[in-house]
Amino acid sequence: MTGTMMHQPLTISSLIKHAGRYHSDTEVISVETTGGVTRSTWSEIEANSRKLASALEKLGVKQGERCGTIAWNNRRHLEVYYGVAGAGMVCHTINPRLFPEQLIYIINHAEDQVLFLDKTFIPVAAKLGEHLKTVKHVIYLGPRDEELAGMVEGLLFYDELLAAEGDDYVWPDLDETMPSSMCYTSGTTGNPKGVQYSHRSTVLHTMGGNQPDGMALSARDTILAVVPMFHANAWGVPYVAAAVGCKMVLPGPNLDGVSLVGLIDSESVTMALGVPTIWMGLLGALETTGSKIESLERTVVGGSALPTVMIPAFAKYDVALVHAWGMTETSPLGTLNQLLQKHSALSDAERAAIREGQGRPPFGVELRLVDDTGAVLPEDGKTQGDLQIRGHWIVESYFKGGGSALTDDGWFDTGDVATVDGDGFMIIRDRSKDIIKSGGEWISTVELEDIAMSHASVASAAAIAAKHIKWDERPVLCVVKKPDADVSEADLLGFYDGKIASWQVPDKVIFVDELPLGATGKVLKNKLRDQYGDVLLSDAG
Ligand code: AMP
Repeated sequence: MTGTMMHQPLTISSLIKHAGRYHSDTEVISVETTGGVTRSTWSEIEANSRKLASALEKLGVKQGERCGTIAWNNRRHLEVYYGVAGAGMVCHTINPRLFPEQLIYIINHAEDQVLFLDKTFIPVAAKLGEHLKTVKHVIYLGPRDEELAGMVEGLLFYDELLAAEGDDYVWPDLDETMPSSMCYTSGTTGNPKGVQYSHRSTVLHTMGGNQPDGMALSARDTILAVVPMFHANAWGVPYVAAAVGCKMVLPGPNLDGVSLVGLIDSESVTMALGVPTIWMGLLGALETTGSKIESLERTVVGGSALPTVMIPAFAKYDVALVHAWGMTETSPLGTLNQLLQKHSALSDAERAAIREGQGRPPFGVELRLVDDTGAVLPEDGKTQGDLQIRGHWIVESYFKGGGSALTDDGWFDTGDVATVDGDGFMIIRDRSKDIIKSGGEWISTVELEDIAMSHASVASAAAIAAKHIKWDERPVLCVVKKPDADVSEADLLGFYDGKIASWQVPDKVIFVDELPLGATGKVLKNKLRDQYGDVLLSDAG
């Protein structure tokens, strides 16, 4: 055959091989669950991943079988990402914040053969023990520890497994369409659903998500991965970091503002990723510690809507916020917000307004909006519709999910309601289940919450649809005040004046001590609706 190009499968082992060979002495810093900081390099991570792969094969784990992890962001967890997937097994990251029944469901449903555990989670696993039907080996992510050995029968020790291995394991050749990793959706209703990523989808996500208009990581960056490795592959950061060979900082269990500021300063972090609540904590810590986080250039913020007040708050420290949107089902990067050349002609305020949205799709994914009948809607920045997505790293069917998860014409319905403009800039207006329909008009809970959060006395806020005799639904705002702050219902409602149309202003404010949060830190609005959905009916009566 002549006139052809090489075909090399897009595998996860190729990422770590690259980092180990071409960025061998670049550091990976890990805050350990048991305290202390470990400094290693990409070549050590690569060598340890191969040792783990070899050890797992000796334990009898077969290609295609799932190995579960319940762990913080640390070095051993990173090695498990690569060792498991590189050997052709599937790295199933599990969210430790799930209820025990959900953990049992997920581990049994995934048919996990192995469970890797951080010290924090050994007691949880010890309790689940007898309910786990498929787990053959439980591996503690650390050195031998007799106390832990007494808690879980047959417990194996990661460091001992690796110490028994030589350096001769060679990554196997794999088909790029094989599954490589797995994550279950948080599932606020019904059972969680498993999304199985492939080697190919992961490598394409790595390359697509890290273009200059995406995460834009390079070998000169030091990245702090605050987003947990147990949720949607930590937004792909462990893979991107290896592909570009940047210095990587894994923050372990302590994600409070003061700990993060300390890491940013001590390791000269240039880029960080996480959900908005993390950055709120960081802002608070900047005030108390007096740090100017001078090394930090940008953060990628996503997982829930970026409160607009955060953009100027970080600008004071010369930190640019890149707003991103995605889902477990989308690997997760769907959109990232970077400006276009034509925006340089706009005023600062106009540019800031664009940056508040969720951004546009990188090469590799496409968006569209549809109405209730599935008809495609215009992308004019105004028309609101159900957001659908397709591309190289979007789910096709759920694990053991029985058939396609897509529309008849091959798109994935995100469950989000959005607008998209002619350049593809997307703004999430709501979850389709949360949006408020008042007298036939839509009211965005995201917008109501964003305004509330810009009030100096508000720590967090959630708007919900409450039933209403005349208007079907009206907005009610649940608010957690900042400690020691005082604000009345009338003050807060008055704060909406001139910011939105008067008919969109909530009918009522309910002050609460805390908002119910799900396992990924998102507000459980269905719980709030159960609790407060009828308040306007009783008021009327
Ligand atoms: P999960 O699969 O748990 O990561 O949740 C995905 C959902 O989180 C999306 O469908 C959105 O509803 C929400 N989400 C993620 N990123 C954003 C964002 N930047 N702004 C608003 N909502 C977001």
